[in-house]
Amino acid sequence: MARGFMGKMLWVDLSRKELKEEALDEKVGRDFLGGYGLGARVLFSRQKAGVDPLGPDSILGITTGVLTGTDALGGSRYVMVGKSPLTGGWGDANSGGNVGPNLKFSGYDAVFFTGISDKPVYLYIDNGKAEIRDASNLWGKDSFETQDILREEHGKDLEVACIGPSGEKVALVAAVMNNKGRAAGRSGLGAVMGSKKLKAIAVKGSMKVPVADAQKASEMRKRHLANMGPNVQFMGEFGTSFLFNMCCEVDDAPTKNWGGAAVVDFTSYKDIGAEPVKAEVERGFGCWHCPIGCGGIMKAGTGEYKYAAGAHKPEYETLAMFGSNCLNNNLASIIQANDICNRYGLDTISAGACIAFTIECYENGIITRGDTDGLEMTWGNHKSIIAMTEKLAKREGFGDVIADGVKKAAKKIGKGSEKYAMHIEGQEVPAHDSRGGPHFAIGYGTEPTPARHTQGGEGPLPPGALPEFDHNSLKGRGVPHNIGSNLTNAYNASGVCMIVIGDGYGHWDDFMEALKVITGWDITREELIKTGERIKTMRQAFNVREGLASPWEFPDRMMGIPPKTEGPRAGVTVDKAEHFNEYLEAMDWDINSGKPSKKKLLELGLDDVAKVLWP
Ligand code: SF4
Repeated sequence: MARGFMGKMLWVDLSRKELKEEALDEKVGRDFLGGYGLGARVLFSRQKAGVDPLGPDSILGITTGVLTGTDALGGSRYVMVGKSPLTGGWGDANSGGNVGPNLKFSGYDAVFFTGISDKPVYLYIDNGKAEIRDASNLWGKDSFETQDILREEHGKDLEVACIGPSGEKVALVAAVMNNKGRAAGRSGLGAVMGSKKLKAIAVKGSMKVPVADAQKASEMRKRHLANMGPNVQFMGEFGTSFLFNMCCEVDDAPTKNWGGAAVVDFTSYKDIGAEPVKAEVERGFGCWHCPIGCGGIMKAGTGEYKYAAGAHKPEYETLAMFGSNCLNNNLASIIQANDICNRYGLDTISAGACIAFTIECYENGIITRGDTDGLEMTWGNHKSIIAMTEKLAKREGFGDVIADGVKKAAKKIGKGSEKYAMHIEGQEVPAHDSRGGPHFAIGYGTEPTPARHTQGGEGPLPPGALPEFDHNSLKGRGVPHNIGSNLTNAYNASGVCMIVIGDGYGHWDDFMEALKVITGWDITREELIKTGERIKTMRQAFNVREGLASPWEFPDRMMGIPPKTEGPRAGVTVDKAEHFNEYLEAMDWDINSGKPSKKKLLELGLDDVAKVLWP
């Protein structure tokens, strides 16, 4: 087996309570780099089209990348994979913390779950020995309690990925949680885990990831650390909250359920920006061996919201979705909302979107106090925002209506509420505006996971990764965006953090060197671009086989139909053809269906996929 991999996958049949090991094929490792690349390859081959994502035939995977748990900078990630119950298509969700590396140290590159258990269980792996264990005592516990109970039993070196009560109740906006504040949040995979009655994946181990040259790898890491960009300290201090003020000022942050502009409708945005957030931080938090440590642990809440010490610092996305998007400038309430989501196991992007949707429905008389269990769901009403977030987390009252996301909620409510449901293909839109942000519009509309801000082709890349193009024009963007998106697919699959590598704190050449030194592969940049393209195309092939067609449909509001009348992005309308066609052509995907051409599939070595999509 190639270096960088442990060389083993574990299959867990939850219905039969059977475990089976399988060798990871070396060619699959190099062709897909692990992570969601491996996940898409495996699920396309082993899962039939059309299965119920919440049924026994759906496969849920936890996967690591070739660089996870190695000396590569930022190698902390794991990716949950499965069919998304929100979109009905390909689903993946990436998280940091300590679980990914420790899954490898326990002996496995990936674990795939099939079937449904008849009672709550967890998977326990200790140094290559895996067991399915009873989780009756954990069912109903939040993600903090679950981790604490399991560590009490198995030792402090145990790392846990788990669902909270929201995942148990199969809320489609549920996340898989680890380290009490790191989330594999998107695609609704916490619900898939809950549907399988799988409470947790608990891993420990002391195995080493085999590398081609350990001495060289350790020297390389020291060099790369010394090489890191000048803003590392700044990122460590503020984390992604540093984006908030800036995104409000350029009208990138969602405001009033995407219907307003912060500089017009939410002029108090600085109340919840990076500096006030920092003032509430007790200490820093970093994922495994991270040289940045962008996370933070908050002081206990002493005012109106008495969250316990240990709550995690809200990320930019959380500040925006529970803050500007709800016109809520009460920072303590946002920390509280974040803590509720982390404990109950919810994606903060989707949960915040559900709350903003509820408020807009209420403000427009579509729902009333009679529907909202007496809560006055008005803009900026932080007490009601927190109360409704708790209801969502517990699936209580109106919380049950919104717990499966805004698309399904609008269907249940009717009365024209659909126009306030800000989702793309069932997935709530993350906190960057597609109007006037072509990078995000292209990514939201064409990426195999709809509405994904961490996947586009021009943003999260180090300087020098892309050929030159005119950033003020939509013309000539297709090819560079494709290269960028392919590279993004490659580093996300490989298990490194996009902030460490993708946002330019590290360097692109360092990433390439890490791949070579860890694996011993003589990999070129061209091969890496092609590998990323293969990963992306494999993920898209899953969608095509499920009968989905992209570019994905946007809500009118996200297209700028009608355009905003005020703020920095006033007058902007997204032209679908202009945004998507050139990019789809560069990928050789059909501009009307997103289906990769047969030629492209064969060029990428996906012959079996070509046979299925082009019989
Ligand atoms: S930069 Fe932040 S998210 Fe990335 S690995 Fe470090 S602590 Fe984790």
